[in-house]
Amino acid sequence: MEEKRENQCVVEGCGLDRYEGHDKCILHCKKELNSFKSHKEFFKSLTQHIAKHYSNSENIHSDCILAFFGLPSRLENNTLVIKKLYDKIDFYFICFPPIDQTHHYFFDILNKFGIIHFYHCEFYNLHHTHFPLKQYVFDQCKFQGTTIETSHSQQGNTYSFCSFQNYTYHETKNKEFPPTFFACEFISASLLNLKVAYPNISEWTCEKITIIESTFTKILYLHAKEIELKSSIFSSDVIIPFLKDRSHNSVTILIYDVDIHGTLDISNLTIESLTLSKVLSNTVTAYNTTLITKPIISDFKVSNLVNFNGAIFKVGLDLDYAYFFGSTFFNHTNLASLKQNCSAATYRIIKDSFDKAANTLEANTFFALEMDKLYRELTWAEQPKDKFLLFVNKVTSNYGQNWLLPVFWIFIFSSAFLYIKSAHSNGYLSGLDTNSFLTFLNALTGIITPLSSFLKKGMEFISLVFGIIFTILIYQTIVALKRKTRR
Ligand SMILES: [Zn+2]
Repeated sequence: MEEKRENQCVVEGCGLDRYEGHDKCILHCKKELNSFKSHKEFFKSLTQHIAKHYSNSENIHSDCILAFFGLPSRLENNTLVIKKLYDKIDFYFICFPPIDQTHHYFFDILNKFGIIHFYHCEFYNLHHTHFPLKQYVFDQCKFQGTTIETSHSQQGNTYSFCSFQNYTYHETKNKEFPPTFFACEFISASLLNLKVAYPNISEWTCEKITIIESTFTKILYLHAKEIELKSSIFSSDVIIPFLKDRSHNSVTILIYDVDIHGTLDISNLTIESLTLSKVLSNTVTAYNTTLITKPIISDFKVSNLVNFNGAIFKVGLDLDYAYFFGSTFFNHTNLASLKQNCSAATYRIIKDSFDKAANTLEANTFFALEMDKLYRELTWAEQPKDKFLLFVNKVTSNYGQNWLLPVFWIFIFSSAFLYIKSAHSNGYLSGLDTNSFLTFLNALTGIITPLSSFLKKGMEFISLVFGIIFTILIYQTIVALKRKTRR
């Protein structure tokens, strides 16, 4: 190994001087995002680096190569001699500064080569749109800032073991080549306007993935903590799989204006936030999933099956704008939170689901919850009749849930009736006989033939009122008992 000069770049094989305060040269040193301004110097060094590399390996005078790139040289540009060498070029450990469309010189360099291979390189805000159409191969590269890529008419770029901070792929024309990813990592990735099945997406691991205006024909696995699907069509299943290393983290899912012809599978997840709006799906599976916040559901249609078995809704569920046309399952769902924080429509859907599953006890529980919710929503001023009926139902048997309540009321009312009857017999309630309105009501009640034999003389009206109360309470007892014992 050759001895390094004092001011020489520490990267092995690099003969360039160190760059301002770094121990590496301008090519190899880390560049802070957007603060690097010496692009001209960088590209000049890059050319010299290439020239040195080829003059060493191919025994061509470096001046010949500099002339090839149009840099000052002692020799004439001898393109023919060296052209065949540049079918392919490799770049190692180079940290590229942010490159935009003004950096023509860099694109001119790239244009001299065929396949361009980057190993262990770093890029900032790389916008492929400006790059000449070539075949690019990236190996163990790091992409910082935003990376924007569009569909490629020749052959898609290849990425192996690369990491991306914020990657966006935008398909401009149909049937072009999307990039190929092998074991890459994404902090955030967006796929826009994709109209072909994306063959390699199931390999992705990602912090955030956004898919907008795209069409997928194959099953899609989305390994991401944050998932946003908008205005897209999925002809097969969309599966957000449970990942072991994600068990302590929760997922955020937003799906808007999306058709899923297969299954939307969000089973076994912990979901921090779930928004489903203008979504049409064939089947939805949320088996054993925990929802930390209340899902936001509006215009959500499921044509076949909804499976919430074993799900936990920590702060309730609101299905007012969900339309489930097939079977819905809530078996083994954690019901404690649902019992407090749902809308009446939600209770009705859950009740129907238990009815269909022949789980009468739970169905009745949710029927009572629905009635109670309705009772709280109605006002005495606006719907007095409905409110009164629900009130009677609530007080007498808690909507058929408590058979002891009507028995208790029967005891209270029969005691009261007994007291009034004996007081009347003993002449304590002489007012009942002298009140002319009551006398009229008694006379009116007395002429209802089928009732006359049951009514106490002089107390016909009060007897009738108590008779009605007892009938209601006995009926409530039977209903409540039947609900608890029905098979
Ligand atoms: Zn260097």
